[in-house]
Amino acid sequence: RSLEQVLADGIRDIPDYPQEGVVFKDITPLLADHTGFGQVVEALAAFGTDDDGNPAVDKVVGIEARGFILAAPVALALGAGFVPVRKKGKLPSATYEESYALEYGEATIEVHQDAFAPGDRVLVIDDVLATGGTVEACLRLIRRCGAEVAGTAVLLELSFLPGRKRLDGEQVGALLTV
Ligand code: 5GP
Repeated sequence: RSLEQVLADGIRDIPDYPQEGVVFKDITPLLADHTGFGQVVEALAAFGTDDDGNPAVDKVVGIEARGFILAAPVALALGAGFVPVRKKGKLPSATYEESYALEYGEATIEVHQDAFAPGDRVLVIDDVLATGGTVEACLRLIRRCGAEVAGTAVLLELSFLPGRKRLDGEQVGALLTV
C-alpha cells in the first residue's frame, strides 16, 4: 500500500469530539495496523535525515500523549535519543515550562532542563498540527535548553487552522494535509 492509502485507511473522523462542532481526527486505527504504522514511522524519520538519507538529529521530542507513540520508534529508527515534552506537573526533575493560549484558557508544557546536551539537533514529532500553539511552545522549550531545532514533523496538518502561518520560518513537515 502507498503511504497515502495507509493514512486514508488509518485516520477516521469522530464528529463532536471532544466538544460539539469539532471533528476529531482519530489515529488509533493506524496505530493498530502494524505495516501501516511502520510505513508512517519510516516516513516521519525521513524528516530527521540529511540529503544523503543519513540520520542528522541527536534527539527526537515527542509531545504528550500521541506524540510519544510516534516519536519513540522514530528516535530508534534514527539512532537518536527520545525526549518527552509533557503537560505540567508530570516530569519528576527540574523543568522549564512554557504556556500557550487555548480557545478557552491556557495550557502549560514542560521539559527537563537537562534533557539535551548543548547544541543537540532536535526533531519534534506530534500527531496533529492544528492551531500550532503546542508546537510553538515546544520549540521555545527546546531553544531555552540550548538545543537546536532541526525541524518538526506531524502525521496530519489541518490546513483550515493557522498552524503553519503561526510557525512561519520554521521547518514543518506533514505526511498528510487536509
Ligand atoms: P494545536 O496546539 O496545534 O492547536 O493542537 C495540537 C495538539 O492537539 C496536538 O498535540 C494534537 O495531539 C492535539 N489535537 C488537536 N486536534 C486534534 C485532532 O483532531 N486529532 C488528534 N489526534 N489530535 C488533535
